[in-house]
Amino acid sequence: MSAPLTSFAALGLSSPLLRAINAKRYATPTPIQVAAVPAVLRGNDVRARAQTGSGKTAAFALPIIQTLAREPRSSSRVVRALILVPTRELAMQIGESFRVYASHLVEQLKIASVFGGVSINPQMMELRGGADVVVATPGRLIDLAEHNALRLNSVATLVLDEADKLFDLGFADELNRILEMLPPRRQTLLFSATFPTAVQTLADSILNDPVRIDIDVDIDDGSDKEPTIVQRALVVDAPRRTQLLRHLIVDQAWARVLVFVATKYATEHVAEKLRRANISAAPFHGELSQGARTQALADFKASKLQVMVATDVAARGIDIAQLPAVVNYDLPRSAVDYIHRIGRTGRAGESGVAVSFVIPDSEAHFRLIERRNGIKLTRETVAGFEPSVSEVTIAPNANDISSGGIKGKRKSKKDKLREAGAMPTETMTDPVAPKRSSVWPGRKT
Ligand code: AMP
Repeated sequence: MSAPLTSFAALGLSSPLLRAINAKRYATPTPIQVAAVPAVLRGNDVRARAQTGSGKTAAFALPIIQTLAREPRSSSRVVRALILVPTRELAMQIGESFRVYASHLVEQLKIASVFGGVSINPQMMELRGGADVVVATPGRLIDLAEHNALRLNSVATLVLDEADKLFDLGFADELNRILEMLPPRRQTLLFSATFPTAVQTLADSILNDPVRIDIDVDIDDGSDKEPTIVQRALVVDAPRRTQLLRHLIVDQAWARVLVFVATKYATEHVAEKLRRANISAAPFHGELSQGARTQALADFKASKLQVMVATDVAARGIDIAQLPAVVNYDLPRSAVDYIHRIGRTGRAGESGVAVSFVIPDSEAHFRLIERRNGIKLTRETVAGFEPSVSEVTIAPNANDISSGGIKGKRKSKKDKLREAGAMPTETMTDPVAPKRSSVWPGRKT
């Protein structure tokens, strides 16, 4: 993340907020904060594309707090700023950030986080007498509105964080119902790491002449610039993935790693196998009780847990400081999910590695993910974990050639031609196929 040449004071933030920023030891605002804070303070709508981990939360929370602190408080059940998020963990996390940033105000703001999976009663009690800021998941917010626990007709600022997820079909009905409860004249801020075209269209329909901010994802783009997130693709046979994962955790000395799998069952299964190998691991998925989810995340954040094995429910917005590695044990379904997953590491300028296990059957799918995200990764193998039979082994790496090809694979006509120097090792049958040549760890991470 390049340091912008400005200070928080120059962004127009008041001294109680500057004190909170100081206490958090933020030296300079991040690019998204430089771009968004003045726009939000002016009252503009904003459509911001920025990687999670780029300081997005402060980019909207700081100016919202400042505006609220300057306006008279209401004592009724009126909500003044509403932050909608797709996951419960994000609701808790953003509520906590608001509390920290607002902690030096003379007159305290009331900030409530409300989300499903837990009893509604304590949340109804908390909302008694109103709340200045409500951070909510859509379903629970609707429940609370139906119970008359809050009123949304005076919301002055609406934030949709992880907006692309909120516009997903799964949330579409709920989002529409909430938008109907809000006053048409309001400030709307949309934040997301990705804005696919469909989302852009929906975004345009609820924004009023927005300030558009695009902060590019800081990933390895092949330039000399030191990337925040180094991405790697390891080719491996499907049944050997857990062993490879165990090997990498030890070999790479990852203090913590977030592992993404495709199903709830796989979270349990892989975590169990790691535990049997004396690696502390826990599953994390949408069907766990909220207590178990909160506990797993707290243990992981406190480094009591070395590995969290999760479905995509953990891919959105969760901030885990100093997370050195993310592993795609199963590839994500979409190119967008890939960006969200890898964004869990390399946060706030720290560096991280995002490793994707590419099994032979998923090579075509990974190529699509690469193409959609405009990236091309070298396919790598780890010594002792080379795939046995695979289309991916068409171009063996330099070491493999010298040792007579990849273990368990007979030399093909092409291999023999290459050895005879008639064909370059990088030549692929697929013209868009990425280079595949090195052996982990081929490059320092
Ligand atoms: P977010 O993108 O909001 O999830 O923020 C990611 C992380 O960056 C959080 O741990 C924040 O505390 C941290 N952060 C936010 N703004 C700054 C800043 N200006 N300087 C350093 N760290 C920051």
